[in-house]
Amino acid sequence: MSEKRKFGFETRMLHAGHIPDSHTGARAVPIYQTASYVFDNADHAASLFELKQYGNIYSRISNPTNAVFEERMASLEGGTGAVAVSSGQSAQMLTMMTLLNPGDEIVASSHLYGGTYTQFEHTFKKLSLKVTFVDPSDIANWEKAITPKTKVLYGETIGNPAGSIFDFESVSALAKANNIPLVIDNTLASPYLCRPMEWGADIVLHSATKFINGQGTAIAGVVVESGKFDYTHFPAVSAPSIPYHNLNFYETFGHYGFLMKLRAETLRNTGSCLSAFDAFLLIQGLQTLSIRMDRHVQNALAIATFLKQHPMVEWVNYAGLPDHPHHERAKKYLPKGASSVFAFGLKSKNNNARETGKKFIEALQIFSHVANLGDSKSLVIHPASTTHQQLSDEELKRAKVNPELIRISVGIETTDDLIWDLEQAFHAISQ
Ligand SMILES: *Cc1c(COP(=O)(O)O)cnc(C)c1O
Repeated sequence: MSEKRKFGFETRMLHAGHIPDSHTGARAVPIYQTASYVFDNADHAASLFELKQYGNIYSRISNPTNAVFEERMASLEGGTGAVAVSSGQSAQMLTMMTLLNPGDEIVASSHLYGGTYTQFEHTFKKLSLKVTFVDPSDIANWEKAITPKTKVLYGETIGNPAGSIFDFESVSALAKANNIPLVIDNTLASPYLCRPMEWGADIVLHSATKFINGQGTAIAGVVVESGKFDYTHFPAVSAPSIPYHNLNFYETFGHYGFLMKLRAETLRNTGSCLSAFDAFLLIQGLQTLSIRMDRHVQNALAIATFLKQHPMVEWVNYAGLPDHPHHERAKKYLPKGASSVFAFGLKSKNNNARETGKKFIEALQIFSHVANLGDSKSLVIHPASTTHQQLSDEELKRAKVNPELIRISVGIETTDDLIWDLEQAFHAISQ
């Protein structure tokens, strides 16, 4: 049995990054609820601080429970490593603060999560980072937006709430031709439905709050590195690090250099670490990821099909339906299904889309009205009055969020019960 076996996705979802503790025999991953770690002696402490030896110093930088989650995510996404952080917003922030210097530029798809858009457009401005948003549907838009200062191309596997599927092959070819890393937010797909690194992404990040946790019990994020990008001539990563006595992270750590820098500098200095307890919850979530995702997809397809033929529905934006403009692309990049988060438009009475939307959401009994997605429970929201309300009309239009748009995140409940719930809410608004 000398041949190294490549284990399947489900096996890795349950076992990657962990062997049972030989000391206690505990089968589950323990929660290492500790702030700090005892050094063997003064030399050991010094070599840990200088990054000459790998080990735990302080849980703001690393923690053994988090390490299991990190290794598991790296394994599932096909990366060389991962760093867990306190939220999806933080995963984006730390990634950009590691890859960019003031004055650098990002070219990003305009089909983004509302919070990401706001972070990029407003908070990054304060850091002198310029973001150019492009309609992702045409590769020419990306090409035109790239300048000598562009240091990141950014997009989401499934654009939320437009339901567009990222054009991995074209954009990653463009990124490679320009030696720019491609960063992908894979939150809506999860690594079970799509692994962007197989299509050329250099860095994949998640809001682990969503499908990875799956129960709506923690806010968390994670950044995964492919190890394939050459950072030799990429100053933010390969310039000598002053606090580490001119250490070149890329030269020293190679295919793990970007992440080492993210952990040892950006995370250490900004402090948005994940608690061990929350990492434990994410590990529980990952154990059932594939089973949940298959069920999410099955329910979403049934509900999208139901909505599509409903007289009170104007349109349905689900890439899992054959008439969606990105259906073929979805089949290619997400062969197991186009996830379960999508938008549809209600036909409004008296042209009052906003009121009709509110009334519909209030009539639902199983779907919860919340600002979240990817929970095992079905969720619903009206973006124009909630997640995207800080966007101007022009920005809303660019993000393809209309006032009649309802976004649902289909859970794993009994399919007929979800259809019953939607039907009774349609009945309520038709009164
Ligand atoms: C929720 C979400 C985020 C932000 O993540 P938080 O964990 O809420 O900080 C980023 N991107 C996408 C696609 C999301 O759905």
